[in-house]
Amino acid sequence: MKSHVKAVVIGGGVVGCSVLYHLAKAGWSDIMLIERSELTSGSSWHAAGGFHTLNGDPNVAKLQAYTVQLYKEIEEISGQSCSLHLTGGVMMADTPERMDFLRLAHAKGRYLGMDTELITPSEAKAMFPLMDETNFVGAMWDPVEGHLDPSGTTIAYSKAAKKLGAEIVLRNRVVELTQEVDGTWNVVTEQGTVHAEHVVNCGGLWAREIGRMVGVELPVLAMEHMYLLTEPMPEVEEFNKSTGREMIGVLDFKGEIYTRQERNGILLGTYEKACKPWSPVNTPWDFGHELLQPDLDRIAPSLEIGFKHFPGIEKAGIKQIINGPFTFALDGNPLVGPVQGLTNFWCACAVMAGFSQGGGVGLALSNWMVHGDPGFDVWGMDVARFGEWAGLRYTNAKVRENYSRRFSIRFPNEELPAARPAQTTPLYDTMLANNAVMGDSWGLETPLWFAPKGKEPKDIVSFHRSNDFGPIGEEVRATRERVGVTEIANFAKYEVSGPAAEDFLNRLMTNRMPKTGRIVLTPMINEFGKLIGDFTIAKAGEDRFMIWGSSAAQKYHMRWFEKHLPKDGSVRIHRFDQTLVGLSIAGPKSRDLLQKLVDVDISTKAFRFMDFREMAVAGAPCMVNRITYTGDLGYEIWMAPAYQRLVYQQIKDAGEEFGLVDFGMRALLSMRLEKNFPTWFRELRPIYGPFEGAMDRFIKLEKNDFIGREAAAKEQAEGPKLRRVSFIVDAADADVMGDEPIWAKASKDYGTVEKPHGYGAPRFDDSGEEIRGSKAAEGASAVRGIVDGDWRVVGWVTSGGYAHYVQKSMAQGYVPAALAEDESAGLFEIEILGHRRPARINVEAPFDPSGEKMRT
Ligand SMILES: Cc1cc2nc3c(=O)[nH]c(=O)nc-3n(C[C@H](O)[C@H](O)[C@H](O)COP(=O)(O)OP(=O)(O)OC[C@H]3O[C@@H](n4cnc5c(N)ncnc54)[C@H](O)[C@@H]3O)c2cc1C
Repeated sequence: MKSHVKAVVIGGGVVGCSVLYHLAKAGWSDIMLIERSELTSGSSWHAAGGFHTLNGDPNVAKLQAYTVQLYKEIEEISGQSCSLHLTGGVMMADTPERMDFLRLAHAKGRYLGMDTELITPSEAKAMFPLMDETNFVGAMWDPVEGHLDPSGTTIAYSKAAKKLGAEIVLRNRVVELTQEVDGTWNVVTEQGTVHAEHVVNCGGLWAREIGRMVGVELPVLAMEHMYLLTEPMPEVEEFNKSTGREMIGVLDFKGEIYTRQERNGILLGTYEKACKPWSPVNTPWDFGHELLQPDLDRIAPSLEIGFKHFPGIEKAGIKQIINGPFTFALDGNPLVGPVQGLTNFWCACAVMAGFSQGGGVGLALSNWMVHGDPGFDVWGMDVARFGEWAGLRYTNAKVRENYSRRFSIRFPNEELPAARPAQTTPLYDTMLANNAVMGDSWGLETPLWFAPKGKEPKDIVSFHRSNDFGPIGEEVRATRERVGVTEIANFAKYEVSGPAAEDFLNRLMTNRMPKTGRIVLTPMINEFGKLIGDFTIAKAGEDRFMIWGSSAAQKYHMRWFEKHLPKDGSVRIHRFDQTLVGLSIAGPKSRDLLQKLVDVDISTKAFRFMDFREMAVAGAPCMVNRITYTGDLGYEIWMAPAYQRLVYQQIKDAGEEFGLVDFGMRALLSMRLEKNFPTWFRELRPIYGPFEGAMDRFIKLEKNDFIGREAAAKEQAEGPKLRRVSFIVDAADADVMGDEPIWAKASKDYGTVEKPHGYGAPRFDDSGEEIRGSKAAEGASAVRGIVDGDWRVVGWVTSGGYAHYVQKSMAQGYVPAALAEDESAGLFEIEILGHRRPARINVEAPFDPSGEKMRT
């Protein structure tokens, strides 16, 4: 065993071996994988080996597609078969809602280059005759599904990595991790210590314990999972003989069941409601190649549905039941990337579908380690997406909820109840008393909308407009015409201070920093010129700046800030989290209201649009920004939690004469739509350049040499390929939710049609053109569903909804830049729940396009 290497990968499951292979392929040969026992000694060996591309997050779906493509490559390099069976598979919908869900998934596939197809239950039965098709209303066929040999695949990765120079050390447990002052690691193992620049936690069932070695509690938990194998079945043999084909895989939403052919019989697995965590606090180090005791009673309700839906299987004898543990994060997606607060400590764990995702995880992580960037939009699996609130007990509750709903529909207006309330502000009880429907915003209870008095404050979940539609409309109208108040504690808030604070921010941000007492809006981009943040920044004092940003991106942004912090201590950064909370008042009467609560002049001239002041509001020390996301006259008021009740109550009392209303996050988002304002993580993501994102006026190329300036200058000089636009949609009773395809009449050359998923180190073809999207884009017209007569898919929706004040259904999304200013009627359609609705680009914001109201 070497004593010094560039990187140590801990864990020889499918994920560790994939990471090792991808690091070696990227050119790092001085790397070592250390495995406690033999390869596949965690969950990898007893997996059912199924793989598929579908994922709720289109970017993760893309990485799953990459994983499936990879198997041929590792088989060739390693000479080891993965026993790949690319059978294809169907997802079965038993209700119209589940069919809507499939329509949405199918529609997304149009611009992701996926070749799915909506089919009838009878067509599905022809490929899997063991089902009773009368239980279903429809299905979606996906040709890129199948199964493989889990151990063979793990070994194929490991052999391929070894061929590229990587070292694998078996039967050697990592027992401790210590860090040197220079950030390098001592990996203490049973066989001695290895010194490494980088450490990767691929510990699978023990990932949590490895995290604890460096003081981190990762939000990951193992769950018991069962699947059964039947005796050989004559029906299966007969099908194989008569068609010359293997039976396909089937996913049954109702029963939370997956099933497929295994040899001459059937494999059937369940995600049962009465699910059971395994080793909820500590994973025993001596757990080896063992299985857990099956518990048929626990899966009996799922089996009952399964046998009803697939009566052919009920008749077969059960040969074996496998019960094994494997790990999940709160939302079922992996935890990948560098851990905030640590240097060169990387994670690739909580990979619950190692055989669908392992390849993509390995590629993204190795890109990140070798090139400083994952090369894909990996937010959906970034380890930074959960905060400190996701501790052991929270994780336990959420993972159980997620497991039991593995194949359930999550409606766009659905808030899940487990582990809530976690964090609350001092106004929580008041908001409940006001009949607020609360939502979870990065672990914090936040008012979404207010139900009318006497009505139960509860969402009726739906893909269509629901019971919040009327009340949100009221909140918006009252705010736009009078004044409204909302809680904004869920924004991210930071303070950057110190003598070099301004230089630091000028280096990170694309806009100029404001003068003292003023505010700017500014994107942040990476060295590849892609959007990685969007902030409101106020200069609070000579060496002190206040920053507000997206709540969910707090760890993501802190990781970036810390990476670029000068080492000499000349800049300090503080994340407030819930030690600073806020209220926002907006609407034409908001100034009159605030004036009643402050003892300073806040007239238009004294307190201008985009001014920042520290002032007492209702006697409480506050910071006040004259800006709001409603795009109306308004203020954001920030205070210590101890003052929040006082300030809120005084706002309510003072507001009575102006007809003040409470409004929630959904009304706020509706109001930002009619102003064409983008949101972080929807419109603005690291796959887009700042000019593509239509953030032009915030990019000051001439100001100084900020990170990404060169790439942004190139984007501007060449012209963006895509452009964020806003649409007015002729919707019926359902508005866009995000991720819908945008169709256009094919009378022009539209350029790219596939969503770019690659970012980071850009890739170029022989002629020097940047390659966007996957290779499937090259043959886009051949991909089913992208072209329809004169129409073709040219873009995708990022978000939208109903803009209540202007009474229009609106959508934002990306289209080829050449089309971005074309407001012609009849040019665009947006596909909502399987129906293509006429849509029209709307260059000017429909509400107050000149911005006069917010400047008044
Ligand atoms: C019953 C069942 C069915 C499944 N079906 C499927 C399926 O159909 N499709 C699919 O994609 N996935 C399936 N899975 C999930 C799949 O098994 C996991 O996604 C995958 O195994 C995760 O791999 P991993 O490498 O992250 O973790 P693991 O396989 O757990 O590997 C972690 C490795 O790290 C080693 N290790 C841990 N700590 C240390 C240490 N301190 N020092 C050295 N080594 C250490 C362990 O010994 C182990 O070998 C199934 C799982 C189960 C249980």
